[in-house]
Amino acid sequence: MKSKKVALINLGCPKNLVDAEEILGRVAQSGSTICQYPEDAEVLIVNTCGFIDDSKKESIDTIFKMAKLKEDARCKKLIVTGCLAQRYPEELQKEIPEIDHVVGLKDFDKLTDLSGSDRKREKSSTIQCSDDWRNRIRLTPGHYAYLRISDGCDNRCSYCAIPGIRGRFYSRTIENILEEAHQMAHEGVKEINVISQDTTSYGVDLYGKRQLHVLLEKLSEIEGIEWIRILYTHPRHFYPELVRTIGLYDKICKYIDLPIQHINDVILEKMGRGVTRAHVESLINDLRTHIPKLFLRTSVIVGFPGETEKHFAELLKFVKSAKFERLGAFTYSKEDGTPAASFKKQIPGEAKEYRLKEIMLAQQKIIIKKHKSLVGSTISVMVDEKDKTSGRWLGRTYGDAPDVDSRVIIRENHLKVGDIKNMMITGTDGYDLIGTPVHLPERDEGAKG
Ligand code: SF4
Repeated sequence: MKSKKVALINLGCPKNLVDAEEILGRVAQSGSTICQYPEDAEVLIVNTCGFIDDSKKESIDTIFKMAKLKEDARCKKLIVTGCLAQRYPEELQKEIPEIDHVVGLKDFDKLTDLSGSDRKREKSSTIQCSDDWRNRIRLTPGHYAYLRISDGCDNRCSYCAIPGIRGRFYSRTIENILEEAHQMAHEGVKEINVISQDTTSYGVDLYGKRQLHVLLEKLSEIEGIEWIRILYTHPRHFYPELVRTIGLYDKICKYIDLPIQHINDVILEKMGRGVTRAHVESLINDLRTHIPKLFLRTSVIVGFPGETEKHFAELLKFVKSAKFERLGAFTYSKEDGTPAASFKKQIPGEAKEYRLKEIMLAQQKIIIKKHKSLVGSTISVMVDEKDKTSGRWLGRTYGDAPDVDSRVIIRENHLKVGDIKNMMITGTDGYDLIGTPVHLPERDEGAKG
C-alpha cells in the first residue's frame, strides 16, 4: 500500500502534545510520511482538547477548518483523536459527518491502519502503551521536551472532566522513565519538563508511596540534562522529601507549578480539592522558606458555583498578598458529567468575566513590580530562539516554563539555541524581561536552574 502523507494539528496541554508526538511516531513507523502543512496532506489528524468549553470550541472550529480541506485540497481522510474524541465519540461522528474516524485514547494502534500502513499492531490494553515514547516524534524545539511520568487522575475535583476522559491515575516505572530521559539527553535535550495530571502523586499506585523526589534525584544524575522543571503539582500531595529535593539539587529548577484553584475554605471544600486555606498557606510558606529564589506559579478558577462576592474578595486579597511569580486564571466552565455541573448558584457569565479581569489586573501589577525588582540582578536564562521578525534572541529564565510564562529579550547576538547563560536583567518590556549575558567565569556554562 502506497504510504500516505499525514499531517497532525495538535491542541491543548503538554500531555496532549506528548500523545500527538507518540501518534506521529506510530504513523511514521507504519511507513507514512509526516508533512508539516495540512494543505499537503492526504490524511489529517486533529488531536483535540476536550477539557473546558473554550478548548472544546477551539477543537471543533479546527475540525471544521480541516474538513474544508477535504473539499479544496488533497485531504482524503480526516481523523480526530485526543480528549474530545475520547469524551464525545458518538456525538462527533454524528454531528460532523466529514470526520472519517474518531480514535479514542485507548485506540492509538488503529492509527497505523487508518493512516495507510499495511503493518498490523497488537491492541494495547491500557490508554498508553508505555513504550510509545521510543518512536516519539517530538514537536518541541530540540533543547527542551516534556517527560510524562504518569497519566489519569484519582483526585476527582468536582469541576474537572479529566478523570472521566483519562481514567484512573497510573504511573510509569522509574526505569522506563529514566530510559526515555537518557534518550532525550542523547538527542540534545537540556530541559526536561516533568508532566502528568498530578505529578506529586507519582508512584503511589506502583510503589505504594510517593516517589517523585526519588525520580527527580535520578533525573538529576543524567549527563546533558541541565534543567528539570516540575509542572502540575497538587497542594494536597506535596511532601517534605520533595520540598527538600527541589531545594537541594541544582538541576531542579526553583520553579513550581502549584494550581491552588481557590483559597476560601467553603469553595475549596465544594471543589473537592482536599485542602484548606491553612494547608495551602503553610505549604507556600514551607516552599518559600526551603527553596530560595523560588518562582511559584499557580492557577485559580473564578466564578465557581456558589462563589459569593465575599468568597471572591478573599481570593483577590490572597492573590495580592501571596504575590505569585506566575499566575493563570480561568472562569469556571460547567462541564457535563462533573458533580459541580449540577451545583446550585451557578454564576452568570458577566460576573465571571468581571472577576477574571480583577484577578488578572491584580496579577499584572504584581508581575511588573517583581520584574522591576529583578533589574540589576543576574539570573540564568535558557536561549530558546531567534525571533524571525525582530531578529532578536529570546529566552526564558529558570522561572519560566515554555509557552505559558514570560520571556527574556536578549541583548546579545552570538548565541545558540539551548545555551544556558547567566544574564544581567537590564530592563523590562511589559510581561517580559530584558537581559544581557554576563560572564561569571566559574559559573557560566550550565548556570544553575
Ligand atoms: S487534580 Fe483535579 S483538576 Fe487536576 S486533573 Fe485531577 S481532577 Fe482534574
